[in-house]
Amino acid sequence: MGEWIKEAANGFGLTLEISKHLVHRETPFQVIDLYQTVGKGKLLMLNGIIQLTSWDEFCYHEMMAHTVMCACGNEPENVLVIGGGDGGVLRELAKYPSVKRLDICEIDEAVIEVAREFLPETAVSYDDPRVNINIADGSEFIKQFNAEYDAIIVDSTDPGGPGEPLFGVEFYKNMRKALKFGGVIGSQSESPFLLPDVVKSLQQISRECFEYSAYGMFYVPTYPTGNIGICVGGAGIDPVIARREAPLNLRYYNRKIHEAAFVLPQFVLDLLS
Ligand code: SAM
Repeated sequence: MGEWIKEAANGFGLTLEISKHLVHRETPFQVIDLYQTVGKGKLLMLNGIIQLTSWDEFCYHEMMAHTVMCACGNEPENVLVIGGGDGGVLRELAKYPSVKRLDICEIDEAVIEVAREFLPETAVSYDDPRVNINIADGSEFIKQFNAEYDAIIVDSTDPGGPGEPLFGVEFYKNMRKALKFGGVIGSQSESPFLLPDVVKSLQQISRECFEYSAYGMFYVPTYPTGNIGICVGGAGIDPVIARREAPLNLRYYNRKIHEAAFVLPQFVLDLLS
């Protein structure tokens, strides 16, 4: 039996068998570790928290990107990713021919470097000429924009580290200001099994800042509990509705799963009521 790597947080753990430790880097923002797993591809961890495996990252990246893009009231042209240095959300967004400008704001350049070297299938779109890389704190970067973007996707780490300001009301107000009318945002919004307070607080903030807001759930096997959420907000339109066809050959997202993601178990409805 090989070595097992554990994510242990919020009273819950998840373990993966690894065969090799490929990267260990300490940056001003976090500790980056990348492993070769046994049978689940590469594993990226930040501060000991699982960010992705190459085995199931399609579930998360497709849902984060296409739920937002397909809900958009406008044909999406200008799109912003905050966080997401592994490049998985960018890869999905680059599949839309309507997109003219694809901005990414990642706080930690080292995440991009590691992803480009070790996760080439995920970080595949960094050379797309529409992509503009900005190394900055997303909560500061967003302040400069007024009605600039059709879609904004926040692919951040959990609250507690550098992602903390991305879970606050000021950031959501600034995202609403940066969106065109008819635009949509989607943000990593945690699991109601593990972080119900974060799920609830983000929905409250999003309802305060957007005309329409909702919480959706989907499966990602290698996130503890196998479940994660997306908080969506619409500038004048309801993001629960899928309005356009997604790109072909996806493995997780489809129109029915978009709308089904927002059909919630009773305990989550009670949490959010
Ligand atoms: N889906 C992943 C998860 O929740 O497990 C998140 C993946 S992605 C690697 C998260 C990225 O957000 C990290 O690369 C991190 O450096 C970046 N990040 C965290 N705080 C940020 C901030 N304030 N501004 C911009 N990027 C940030």
